[in-house]
Amino acid sequence: MLQQAPRFHAADAVRLARDLYGIAGAASALPSERDQNFLLETATGERFVLKIANATESREILEAQNAAMEHVADLKLCPRVQPTVDGHQIAQTDSGHFVRLLSWLPGVPLGGVESRPQTLLEDLGTKLGQFSHALADFDHPAIRRQFYWDLSRGFEIVREYSPLIEDPGVRGFVRRVVGHIEARDGDRLLSLRTSAVHGDANDFNVIVEGSQDLQVTGLIDFGDMVHSWSVAEPAIAIAYAVLDRKDPLDAACSIVRGYHAAQPLTPDEMAVLFALVKLRLCVSVCVAAQQQRQRPHDAYLSISQGSIHRTLPVLAAIHPDAAEDALRTACGLHAIHAITPAPMNVTLRERRERLGPNLSLAYTDPVKVARGWMQYLYDDRGRQYLDAYNNVPHVGHSHPRTISAAREQMRALNTNTRYLHDTIWRFAERLCSTLPSPLSVCYFVNSGSEANELALRLACAYTGARDVVVLESAYHGNTTTMVDVSPYKFNGPGGAGQPDWVHVAPIPDDYRGPHKRSDPDAGRKYGDAVGDLVSDLRARNERIAAFICETCPSVGGQIIPPSGYLATAYAHVHKAGGVCIADEVQTAYGRMGDAFYGFESQGVVPDVLVLGKPIGNGYPLGAVVTTRDIAASFDNGMEFFSTFGGSTVSCAAGLATLETVLDEDLQAHARRVGARLLAGLDALATRHDVVGDVRGRGLFVGVELVRDRSTLAPATTDASRIVNTMRERGVLLGTEGPFHNILKIRPPMPFDERDADRLLELLDEILTP
Ligand code: PMP
Repeated sequence: MLQQAPRFHAADAVRLARDLYGIAGAASALPSERDQNFLLETATGERFVLKIANATESREILEAQNAAMEHVADLKLCPRVQPTVDGHQIAQTDSGHFVRLLSWLPGVPLGGVESRPQTLLEDLGTKLGQFSHALADFDHPAIRRQFYWDLSRGFEIVREYSPLIEDPGVRGFVRRVVGHIEARDGDRLLSLRTSAVHGDANDFNVIVEGSQDLQVTGLIDFGDMVHSWSVAEPAIAIAYAVLDRKDPLDAACSIVRGYHAAQPLTPDEMAVLFALVKLRLCVSVCVAAQQQRQRPHDAYLSISQGSIHRTLPVLAAIHPDAAEDALRTACGLHAIHAITPAPMNVTLRERRERLGPNLSLAYTDPVKVARGWMQYLYDDRGRQYLDAYNNVPHVGHSHPRTISAAREQMRALNTNTRYLHDTIWRFAERLCSTLPSPLSVCYFVNSGSEANELALRLACAYTGARDVVVLESAYHGNTTTMVDVSPYKFNGPGGAGQPDWVHVAPIPDDYRGPHKRSDPDAGRKYGDAVGDLVSDLRARNERIAAFICETCPSVGGQIIPPSGYLATAYAHVHKAGGVCIADEVQTAYGRMGDAFYGFESQGVVPDVLVLGKPIGNGYPLGAVVTTRDIAASFDNGMEFFSTFGGSTVSCAAGLATLETVLDEDLQAHARRVGARLLAGLDALATRHDVVGDVRGRGLFVGVELVRDRSTLAPATTDASRIVNTMRERGVLLGTEGPFHNILKIRPPMPFDERDADRLLELLDEILTP
């Protein structure tokens, strides 16, 4: 793909100018990627650009460029081709290189201008719009070509070259961004207008002039001309103009305002414009990676990469709907995604009056959210928050793949499991392919609570027993039975105490509990405590139906049990004929980084697996996966039916979410980002005494705050203050654990290295007295 630019010297340029064009002048080299360009200056001060194209460049492409420049000549924005003394538009050197002489446009490249006010950007839009308008009826066979900078081939280029991006964080990020674009806008992109585009209105190809008010006076370098989406023209210009700006969306708005006035965009073009800006930058990262492999020491190839790496994440953090509306309103069109929130006091009052009084609210100053996108939430005034807490939007808030799968299925059919349909078995099959083989039978329900209820029913049916062993501080759901098996509830405020059929085992907390992390046998000891309860039952001639626990207790305080814990506990339970239920409502789907499910890192396989929150990415969905034997025991004549569970729409949402987790390789992402986050938190622990313990895996992290490292007195007030201050500063966390002194970091999975650094920096600042 990469062509070596020809290697002529200034003296050659002088000679070519004299011999071919009869012009005597001095030559100096100008920068370029594919061609070699020289500025020619005559003794009278007349200037030209001598362009020597690569010998492998096709003559037809150069003819197309010349024809396009001629086509738009009336605009006086582009160079004109100067014929040779023999009247040719294109000459050829002895070595076969094509040579052209172009008029020089006065001014300086936009890239060399420090201050770029919105007026200048609007002017850029206007001139580009005028250019597009003039070029709209231009065509040439040579521009209907396979060309890697053709934005309409962007997805293909990213697929092909993104594997060459060395940094796994950048590689994953680029792929996710492009995946989101494909899922959200793929259909619309198929029907966009196409036309000839210049295709490279970057800072160095846009010429500006003026002493006070700079104006765009030229557009040069037609080397990337191609027949493509017409809207690629402003998208590419915006992509470069917004780099390293503090106000990229405002800058984009200024350009599009000017452009749209000169060359109106269709609603679909307006809808995809912002996405195409991002796509262009992603393509640029991929092409740079490819070129770098070929020419590792060529600085020109990576000229924009630093600013792209800084700016792309800023663009990716803007909600696409908000961006579309901003661009539309800049052009005088009405917003189509506008949200009109009620005033805060009305919302608070009405919520108080109309809703159950024991709904709780996060933060002293509650956040009124209006939108979500990936790892970000936006309040009703458009303020962006980094969401480091919500695990339900596992693949990201408003992930377009889940949305479009659910929307398309909702449009086609939404019905229950009493009819045959393919989505349910496809989802079940895909789900089971992520699990060890004994877990092969699925039930779909609507929530984690419902899934745990069913898990318990399965255990009771299989064992004919009723007693259940649970963990201290555990929470498994909001139904009557789930409250009964949740010490966090029955021992908490308003709780009715422990039912006689429920037995509470100590939480395997190797920081605060009796067996510490320093004890290599801690896992077995905590596991034996489950065995003790099982033995007590047997001594009373009672039998255990189930041992239910989160594989890494989250509600109990983001606990990572010491190794050997579940293996020991499960062995005791199995020996007594009980069923082991793994509540993976919080830990499933790669969050733990080193494993797709929490139980894997403990080296066990549960008999019943419970899934909830993340698996529908916000669509209400829970699942229970069990063994064939247990499922058979439950098939006792009573029908199992959940009206909404396993509905066609919930399975479509579930399948799309699971495929996204796998396609985006979010488990590896969680492992990488989590390692960085944990290392950063460990470093904070060395500087701040209040940080008693840092624990976690992947993007499942807890920071336990203590007033005294020897007594472990919980720093509950500090935890609350920190979480509220972080919220004020734009980062959302929660607290967890029996003393509410553990900072809970459990973000949507797209949360990345930059987000981790931002969180760490802010936390460090807040912890510093
Ligand atoms: N199990 C665990 C571990 C949970 O954290 C929760 C919810 N916090 C549930 C079950 C209940 O899930 P749901 O709220 O979807 O009923």
